[in-house]
Order: sequence, then C-alpha cells, then structure tokens
Amino acid sequence: MKKALISDIQFYSLNDGPGIRTNVFLKGCPLHCEWCHNPETQPPTPELYWKRMLCAQCGRCMEACPNDAINAPIDPGIAMDSDSTYHKIIRDRCNNCMACVKACLYDALVVVGEDRSIDDVIGEVVRDAPFYNNSGGGMTISGGEPLLHHEFSAELARRAKEKGINVCVDTSGYGSWEALEELARYADIFLFDLKHLDSNEHKRRTGVGNREILENLQKLSALGERIWIRLPVIAGYNDSMDYMKGVVDFLKSLPNPVEKVDLLPFHNWCQDKYGWLGKKWEMKEIDAMDYGDCETIRRMFEYSGFTATVGS
Ligand code: SF4
Ligand code: SF4
Repeated sequence: MKKALISDIQFYSLNDGPGIRTNVFLKGCPLHCEWCHNPETQPPTPELYWKRMLCAQCGRCMEACPNDAINAPIDPGIAMDSDSTYHKIIRDRCNNCMACVKACLYDALVVVGEDRSIDDVIGEVVRDAPFYNNSGGGMTISGGEPLLHHEFSAELARRAKEKGINVCVDTSGYGSWEALEELARYADIFLFDLKHLDSNEHKRRTGVGNREILENLQKLSALGERIWIRLPVIAGYNDSMDYMKGVVDFLKSLPNPVEKVDLLPFHNWCQDKYGWLGKKWEMKEIDAMDYGDCETIRRMFEYSGFTATVGS
C-alpha cells in the first residue's frame, strides 16, 4: 500500500483552487524558497516543533532523549525573550525517535510529518464531500512538492476522481515531465507557481534554476490542461511593473491561454513556524506587500486579457 509523508491535512480552505477544499500537504520539496510559508514541508523527513511559549522548562524531554539532543532547562523568561536564540533541540544530534514528544506534558513538542496511506487520506478527504458539492470545491494536493511523491500523488488523485471529487495540484513545476504528465491524467486544475522568469534569479532565491519548470509549463499548456498561475509577489524581487509585463508576454506565448493568474502578496505570518523549527526567518527585513501595489499589478493583468485575483 502506497504511503507518503504528510505534514498536514487542512480542511475548509478557500484559497487553493475553486470552492471549499481539503488541502493535503506532502512533506518534501526540492526547492528552498527564501519566503516559503510552509518551511515544515521542505525536508522529506519528520521534524519536531518546539513551541517555546508552551514550554515549562521542566526537563522531562531531556531525561527522555537517548541522544543528548535536548538542552537543559533554563530560566523560562530568558527562553521566551523574543530576541533569544536559545532553542530546546540540538538538531544535528536528533534522530527523530520522538521519545521527547511522549515525555512532554505541555504539548510544547509536536511531530510534523506522518507516513499515511492513500486509504487513510482519502478517508479524511471524502468526509467533506457535501461541502465540495455545494461549493464547487474538492481536494488540493500541495506541499512540499507533489511531484516529489508523484506515484502517491497520481494514485491519490485517481482515487479522488473515482469518488467524483475535483482535484487540484499545487506544484512548483520542478520534476520530471513524465511525473507531471501522469498527474495530468487525473488533475482538474494545476495551480502552477511562477517565482521568477530569470533562471539565475530563480536559483538565487529558491536553490534551483527554472529551465525545467518553464518547459513543463509549456508542455502542460500544450496538453490543454486547466492552469492557474500563482505568482508570489515579493518586494524588490519580482514586484516591478516591468517584470510583470515580461510575465504577461511569457504567459501569452504559451500554447493555450491560462485560466487565471493569482497574485500572492508576500507576508510574514509564518515566522512562528521558523522559530518552532529552530530556523532563522531570512525575510525579516522584507516588508509585507502592500495590497494596493498588488491591485495595480492585478489590473495590469486584467487589461492584458487575463482573469487575475489577489490571493493570500
Ligand atoms: S526526537 Fe528523540 S533524539 Fe530527537 S530530541 Fe527528541 S528524544 Fe532526542
Ligand atoms: S518536556 Fe516539554 S515542557 Fe518540559 S522542557 Fe521539554 S518541551 Fe519544555
């Protein structure tokens, strides 16, 4: 039975495809976007959140850890100082045995990532079928990167379609064409991320170039797939009108029209997650995008013949 590492199943989502949706977040992504809002989905292994605000510094986790991977209790006031760099877990000694999670009485340690079967995931997804039917919604396979788990993703999509559930696939487009083509047999809509058209810029901020991504987008379009382009808009990176006009030209050059362009203004609501993982939020100094600026860009897309929205 196929299984994959799932970081979360999120119900009642309104931002990841049409209608009311259930998002299945796969864990593991080949990209490392600096602005990633779901950093817990990047590594393809289970991880530990340490929620310092819940931690009583009781020391039970340290006693339970077989690998000396937990720092000794310190003054909670010092640990909770917002400038503190203290972290409970010494990540390079941790082997994810999760003994500490069981030992904690305060829910301050949480496992992120669980191997789950397709039966198990579909069982959860079908529970909200009445919401999908009333709203035109369905399931969105997200991540992480669905193409990294392409066999699981394709089988999950196939099973959902068998049950009459609409399927969206939210992808960076970074993966083999064969995997994407297989998913296209079952997906109703692709939510396709376009982070930067310049490959060097793409590589600088995501860790990979964009050649394969743009080629895959071209091929998907040539197949006549329904495509919603998702554009993260980040101040000083890809928010200029000149750059966006280049995106318009590129999208117009695709073999078939895209159905929609969704602008995703940069925000920093994900900072807590970085802290829980013991990671630095590198975008601290970057301003959240102004809604008005995105609205100007949205109108430019509309004037150019696209249906465009500002999402979140
Ligand atoms: S998961 Fe295991 S090895 Fe890692 S910190 Fe917890 S008890 Fe230690
Ligand atoms: S067991 Fe829980 S509450 Fe106690 S120190 Fe560890 S994380 Fe904090």
